[in-house]
Amino acid sequence: MGLVEIFCAICGCPLQGVEYDPDALPKEGTKWLKEFRVIGKTNFSVRISHGTSELNFNISALGSIPAGNGPYVDIEDTNGVSNAWRLGSGYGPWQVYEADEIGTVLFPIHTACLSIIQHALSWRKHQTPSASSVMTMEDFYKVLCQQHERNSVATETMSPETAAAFGLQGLEWEHGYYGARQFWSQEWESEDQWEWLCADPIKIPTLTSDILSRLNPLPRESHSATQETALFSHTRITSQHSPTPFLEELPTEVLDHITSFLQTSSIIYLRRCSKTLAARLPIGQKFWREQILSGRLVGYLWDLDYDQCRQLALEEDEGMANKAWDWNRLAKSLMRDYFNEPDLELSKGYTAEWQARLENMNLKCKGDWVPGSIGLINRRRIWKIVQNMKL
Ligand SMILES: [Zn+2]
Repeated sequence: MGLVEIFCAICGCPLQGVEYDPDALPKEGTKWLKEFRVIGKTNFSVRISHGTSELNFNISALGSIPAGNGPYVDIEDTNGVSNAWRLGSGYGPWQVYEADEIGTVLFPIHTACLSIIQHALSWRKHQTPSASSVMTMEDFYKVLCQQHERNSVATETMSPETAAAFGLQGLEWEHGYYGARQFWSQEWESEDQWEWLCADPIKIPTLTSDILSRLNPLPRESHSATQETALFSHTRITSQHSPTPFLEELPTEVLDHITSFLQTSSIIYLRRCSKTLAARLPIGQKFWREQILSGRLVGYLWDLDYDQCRQLALEEDEGMANKAWDWNRLAKSLMRDYFNEPDLELSKGYTAEWQARLENMNLKCKGDWVPGSIGLINRRRIWKIVQNMKL
């Protein structure tokens, strides 16, 4: 097997520059691809501090791809000298995606993807965790190791030829990185219309204006409508009688204070406990506005300019803009899941499935999801990959 390019263990994108039509994706927007680190149990001489309780793995300084690609990376030390300190095991680049003599594996991950993981961890602190929830960076590393092990087991039933290529360039996931996996060849294959896969998921200068541009004015007659949304309609009301009389009798400001700590879905479930609670916790446009602007609705908008959004809300409340906005529809658009699991086995290709998905996405783009910023679509893709990771 000749030398091949390797890809990020989280987003499945290259660790080097890519070529796309500059009108669709300017070179500036792909710089993030070259910035990556390696995580693993190896004690790199340069370590990024990440808390003393998580010493079971390490994060290296910035890496780079040596000439000739292959499953190797160089890592700079503090003086910028590649690998000069790796004396114990000789000079040479670090091998990734391959178990070393003590059975540990190194994974290359973009700095941007590590940042998304950090945001997901912060967001998760406010969610209800389960036993399989990934709560720390170390948990993430464990999930990567488990997936690597699954990949190894999967090769046992493959033909030698398939097995040799499987997992060589990166971790293999059932989701195929929601489109990125199909472009792994000897090197990354840039295909028109898929440049969003390589769009910077962190620096999105137009984020706030993109989000606000999706806010449509409400027709006049529905300004005061407070119909319940179908967002959580899959949950049935399980009790006709209120199990929470105590809550029902609380003063409004106390009830509001309590619900301000709850996730959006929990408030919806709570108000379904009784007619009184449903009446006291109205789900109208203002409710959805508050869920969006408090940052509780979705976790991937950490850098939304909330002040700018609040200004809009203030104008709305004071009737200055002379129009009301459809926050409910915006909430639906923000919560919609655009990336579904391809129903494919690990060892098979993803191309046909994703071709169909692309066509589907284009159709959706003509609807209320206007992808002004392809970086935001990519962020949502990586966010979903990170959310999928379970111990
Ligand atoms: Zn990545």
